[in-house]
Amino acid sequence: MSTTKIGWIGLGTMGIPMSQQLISAGYPVTVYNRSKDKEATLKKQGADTAATPAALFQQTDVMIIMVTDDNAINEIFTGKEGLLSAGVNGKIIINMSTVSPSISKEMAALCKEQGNRYLDAPVSGSVKQAETAQLVIMAGGDAAIFEQVKPVLDKMSKMATHVGDVGAGNVAKLAINTLLSIHTQGLAEAVLLAKQNGIEAATLMELLNNGALASPYMKIKGDAILADNYKAAFSLKNIAKDLRLSKDIGLSTPIGEAALKTFGAAEHEFGNDDLIAVKKYLDK
Ligand code: NAP
Repeated sequence: MSTTKIGWIGLGTMGIPMSQQLISAGYPVTVYNRSKDKEATLKKQGADTAATPAALFQQTDVMIIMVTDDNAINEIFTGKEGLLSAGVNGKIIINMSTVSPSISKEMAALCKEQGNRYLDAPVSGSVKQAETAQLVIMAGGDAAIFEQVKPVLDKMSKMATHVGDVGAGNVAKLAINTLLSIHTQGLAEAVLLAKQNGIEAATLMELLNNGALASPYMKIKGDAILADNYKAAFSLKNIAKDLRLSKDIGLSTPIGEAALKTFGAAEHEFGNDDLIAVKKYLDK
């Protein structure tokens, strides 16, 4: 059992199963979530809770953050009871949220001033991969710090790789999620085109799943369409957020631009659904 004390901020769709992996691996885990009701599940499994990010930071060695976006990161670091108000040093912060490379650079510099270290380490994979410790983690920051925390990351993933300086993990993640949005919209468009011409979605998916385009992702999202199940594993508003971040770092190519436009428009009505709800938006 490891003695590294883990602090965990963010108990959303991903944060809960990811932090559960660390509890199962025997780490002492203390959690903080803005909405307190979400802490109950983790408490039952043996996690402690902290009242504020600052209080949590004071009592842990490695702080892991899994929250929505740049705004959330700003609040958690620089808010009144945020991490930077804790007045501690010698700690490692791993930000696993999908955020901009620029906020990672900003927060890494602030951490360094206080004698703490920051890694950006976003993840590829969704709830199922989080529940089975099969995520893929891409980290940016000091390589030696990455090696130090790799045993912790290994408990949540099938692959954890250092990809460059601070922000490099965020860049890799945004590239991957741009492709994810394109795959998702492409699948929705293919299903709709087939349907308009008399081929049922079930028939098309059977063909797709047995052909050269078959992939675990096509299968999962095709099954969701067939079951009319749009409960968010990865919310549509979050892929729209990621496409805007990709735009901020230079996305200007034709398909990427089209995806940004589509998901940005679909977000108004279907933002809380899964991203494959883009099919419902395009069907209107
Ligand atoms: P989620 O279910 O919406 O959870 C978001 C978490 O962020 C919640 O714990 C929420 O707290 C917290 N939060 C949001 N704004 C905050 C603020 N201003 N201050 C403090 N906490 C705040 O999101 P998720 O699906 O777990 O995703 C988390 C991150 O992982 C996102 O960056 C997402 O893009 C990325 N990601 C998601 C998936 C996926 O499949 N879901 C896959 C890979 C990466 P409350 O409970 O108080 O709202």
